[in-house]
Amino acid sequence: MTIQWFPGHMAKARRQVTEKLKLVDIIFELVDARLPLSSRNPMIDEIINQKPRLVILNKEDMADPQMTKEWIRYFKEQGVEAVSVNSQAGNGLDKMVKAAEGILQEKFDRMRARGMKPRAMRAMIVGIPNVGKSTLINRIAKKNIAKTGNMPGVTKAQQWIKTAKNLELLDTPGILWPKFEDPETGYKLALTGAIKDSILNLQDVAIWGLRYLEDKYSSRLEERYGFKELPDDMAHVFHQIGERRGAISTGGEVDYDKVTDIIIRDVRSGQFGRLTFDITPEKA
Ligand code: GDP
Repeated sequence: MTIQWFPGHMAKARRQVTEKLKLVDIIFELVDARLPLSSRNPMIDEIINQKPRLVILNKEDMADPQMTKEWIRYFKEQGVEAVSVNSQAGNGLDKMVKAAEGILQEKFDRMRARGMKPRAMRAMIVGIPNVGKSTLINRIAKKNIAKTGNMPGVTKAQQWIKTAKNLELLDTPGILWPKFEDPETGYKLALTGAIKDSILNLQDVAIWGLRYLEDKYSSRLEERYGFKELPDDMAHVFHQIGERRGAISTGGEVDYDKVTDIIIRDVRSGQFGRLTFDITPEKA
């Protein structure tokens, strides 16, 4: 991931999405199911204006299933349809198409009533980097049209990917920026790999992660690192993890950088199980 967001980039990203809005019936707003709020673009409502929208919680395989349910309920309460999918495995895509059909039913009924020829729904995927936009497009297309990875600035002629499922998708997603309003959001984005590792101090990110695990998933923390509750002295925690995992230098000193890497890798690779880092506002 190489994106650094500056005002110029944001304006351009916004313009690109705005230009394509008129081409589509519906926006697929892709978010990371582990961060249904923090991985949303802060200006999404303003950018997509009144366009119908389906929120898609991707990477459901990595998120806490109970929390995913709560988030979907939360979005529905806000009047926004939401579904969860696993783009990598292709799970949930039928549900996604059905939800879009439901949202657009009235519009398409009206079109039919006016004698217009039936056509497929047209959609565009938007989301911040790394939420899985390319993966989802590839899954829907069932062939490698969209390149996985972020390629800001690479433009090409717009193409529609036609699917068997009554859906046409713009082949290039709208890439939006994440919000960095508060440190917590930054830590969450860093911990899940949504932003470059060089943006924040990774040791702070790891410590934030440990504290979050202590708060919400303490038995998993205990199982893996031996702490149910974390002492105030984080050096002690790092030392114990370092010893358990052999991150000790020859002089017997704990290697803090290695321990930091271990913690972050453990979170990202699912060693603590399926985790969600955003709590629905009513539960926070
Ligand atoms: P984009 O920047 O939004 O286009 O994101 P990509 O499609 O490049 O995906 C970013 C990373 O997330 C890649 O390593 C994908 O393999 C991974 N990924 C995408 N969707 C899923 C998913 O549903 N589950 C899991 N576990 N990983 C996913």
